[in-house]
Amino acid sequence: MGTDVTTPLLDRLGRPVEDLRVSVTDRCNLRCRYCMPREVFGPDHAFLEREELLSFEELTRLARVFVRLGVRKLRLTGGEPLLRRDLPELVSRLASIDGLEDLALTTNGVLLRRFAPALAAAGLRRITVSLDALDDATFRQLADTNAPVGTVLDGIAAAREAGLDPVKVNCVLQRGVNDDQVEDLAAWARDTGVTLRFIEFMDVGTTNGWLRDRMVPAAEVAERIAARWPIEPVDPSHPGEVAERFRYRDGAGEVGIIASVSRPFCGTCTRARLSAVGELYTCLFAASGTDLRALVRAGADDDALADAVRAVWSARTDRASELRAEAGLTGPRVEMSYIGG
Ligand code: SAM
Ligand code: SF4
Ligand code: SF4
Repeated sequence: MGTDVTTPLLDRLGRPVEDLRVSVTDRCNLRCRYCMPREVFGPDHAFLEREELLSFEELTRLARVFVRLGVRKLRLTGGEPLLRRDLPELVSRLASIDGLEDLALTTNGVLLRRFAPALAAAGLRRITVSLDALDDATFRQLADTNAPVGTVLDGIAAAREAGLDPVKVNCVLQRGVNDDQVEDLAAWARDTGVTLRFIEFMDVGTTNGWLRDRMVPAAEVAERIAARWPIEPVDPSHPGEVAERFRYRDGAGEVGIIASVSRPFCGTCTRARLSAVGELYTCLFAASGTDLRALVRAGADDDALADAVRAVWSARTDRASELRAEAGLTGPRVEMSYIGG
């Protein structure tokens, strides 16, 4: 099965489908307050049953269909993807898909020491670790956990030892919660050589109590870093790159800032998302997705699956973050832990 090059798949705003984010579980071993607050995701929360999740076979098959339609990059996420049993086996299946150029994973890093070698051996190319604070007290408060932040730092070290280098580290800043971490995290990243990116706090889902005032705008983060270490902008490495990149003038690498709220990038958004139960979402802020698992389990062949994806993508008009900038977001939206960040 080759790429359908004769009929490039574009949405209604002319955007191709190039990236696929796949959530492999809705469960997590942390309870970050901005993502899975314990009051909502507590002992009574009904997580998905195992048979509801796409099997590795189903998932690999769907991934192949997306690659045929133009997807070049695939990122595994969740929930916490390292909680999915036998994840390296899935990585190995995905890594063997012809035409898939990039296979990455986003994790909270807590279980990374245990899994990094197997993931690297299975063909994972890149890893992004989420880390919102360097000091124990802030980390534990934010992630609502007893785990020390050292577990995550050790996970990052393990990933690098396993050859998954450079590791990217993403930090979501919230004013009054962890915005005091900017300089410490930047200094740590400069010293260790990881690629750090700050991300604006977003109003994903409806349970995280988002307030615009809590979001620390990208421009403010750049100013604070520049006040300590002179920086200069770097040209994007590819069209549609979401991070604005800056180079430290003293040669200590780069730092990135993702201004999802203050400078939305819907115009170049080429991302599709697949939930753990196989629903296709065309935007992080969508209220619902299209059930591809039902088609797979009803015996649809690859052409029928491709037709279904084509129908959804070619009708896509999403630009939620631009609309938010114009008028604000209202209405129901899926939770981040359900479709992955
Ligand atoms: N558990 C993994 C992790 O934390 O990296 C993968 C899933 S998590 C949903 C993916 C990313 O979404 C994390 O980097 C997290 O910080 C980010 N995230 C969650 N809620 C967010 C929000 N409201 N605004 C911005 N980023 C958010
Ligand atoms: Fe879990 Fe990641 Fe959400 Fe934190 S951000 S609760 S680690 S899924
Ligand atoms: Fe893409 Fe939706 Fe985010 Fe805009 S709001 S960049 S369309 S995921």
